[in-house]
Amino acid sequence: MLTNAPKGTKDILPNQVYKWHFLEKAFRDICTRYGFREIRTPIFEHTELFTRGVGDTTDIVEKQMYTFEDFAKRSLTLKPEGTSPAVRSFVEHKQYAEVQPTKYYYDIPCFRYEKPQSGRLREFHQFGIEIFGTSNMMADAEVICLADDFLRNLGIEDVELRINSIGCPSCRDIYRQALRDFLKPKYDDLCDTCKSRYERNPMRILDCKSEICQSLVQGAPVMLDYLDEECQVAFDELKANLEAMDVEYTVDPGIVRGLDYYTKTAFEFVSNKIGAQGTVCGGGRYDNLIEELGGPPIPGVGFGLGIERLLLTLEANGVAIPEPEGVEVFIAILGDNGKKFGLSLLRQLRREGLRAEVDLLARNFKGQFKYSDRLNARYTVMIGDNELEEGQITIKDMATSEQRRVDIRTIAEELVQLCKER
Ligand code: ATP
Ligand code: MG
Repeated sequence: MLTNAPKGTKDILPNQVYKWHFLEKAFRDICTRYGFREIRTPIFEHTELFTRGVGDTTDIVEKQMYTFEDFAKRSLTLKPEGTSPAVRSFVEHKQYAEVQPTKYYYDIPCFRYEKPQSGRLREFHQFGIEIFGTSNMMADAEVICLADDFLRNLGIEDVELRINSIGCPSCRDIYRQALRDFLKPKYDDLCDTCKSRYERNPMRILDCKSEICQSLVQGAPVMLDYLDEECQVAFDELKANLEAMDVEYTVDPGIVRGLDYYTKTAFEFVSNKIGAQGTVCGGGRYDNLIEELGGPPIPGVGFGLGIERLLLTLEANGVAIPEPEGVEVFIAILGDNGKKFGLSLLRQLRREGLRAEVDLLARNFKGQFKYSDRLNARYTVMIGDNELEEGQITIKDMATSEQRRVDIRTIAEELVQLCKER
């Protein structure tokens, strides 16, 4: 118990963390290029933010939230997603009074009580972006295009972009009724969860993971046939914008997304190489969420991209992330004087920006060489009484085993030079 991380969580060990650093930097860079700025919000929020924001007929609110009471009996929840907190902050700090649009990005842990499996964890991580303050379909295209660029630049080829429109509350109401009419004769065969969705939120049935429900919805009416004029125009504009930006897509009327707040645009980037949990990135438009959460009637659009699933996709595509560079100079030291000189040299080299190391376990000379080998050091220098007396220090190139003697007074410059040369 004590030595096991909680179910559904994962440590990220130093031999993996370089991949995270690489992706975090790539994401920050592309967001900056697209004019997004980072927002950081707390790990937990008032529970009501999510029950209202995400919607109480969603999986998240129905059964996945990590909710607890603090000592003052406030109900708090570890954030299961990033959009509601970003909206809360936008409203709290009256950012809508600034010049619009507001373009945020974030890199956050999310918490959902789910059945852990490949690509599904209880603590997972998301990159996300949001644009608040415009209903122009250029914003939707920009959000989608950023995700597309990000994934393609990483070298992923197999992800497919699927887009859909899930309409607005008024056309969706008509569609929902049509869907209920279609499902009515099949009602008794639906799973229990879907039975409860039938009245409250029948569109969620389309997204049910149960095979029986999946077969029952075959041939169901699709939202795209029910769009009102405004939603239809918006969807046509989105497609035209994506084409202008050279983003490839397929229209998939089956995409409904798991969160209640979406309107009009819904999209997913799906990999077919990582199994059932193939959605790497999902997002869409939410024109009523900001108002619903107590702000002015301001529209928004964004996405969430699962980092663990992104890593699985990279692996499945054979994309290798460059490994970090190792130690440049290892200083092997012997005796008290050697130590004194070695520590001073270590500090100088590090100040010059080199990755330099000594042995903190005081191994013997042979042990230090072995250790230097293990660290994959580029150069090893040996400093003992002999070297200090002679005023000459040996530098060994660990790859070629080539050795050379250097004047003790210039050893630091010499090493800096050598490391910069390569
Ligand atoms: P799913 O299809 O897995 O149920 P979702 O509709 O719940 O996804 P969103 O809430 O839109 O997903 O989250 C955006 C992205 O976050 C997903 O596309 C996925 O990459 C990732 N994600 C969601 N839930 C998990 C999880 N439990 N573990 C790992 N990644 C997740
Ligand atoms: Mg889910």
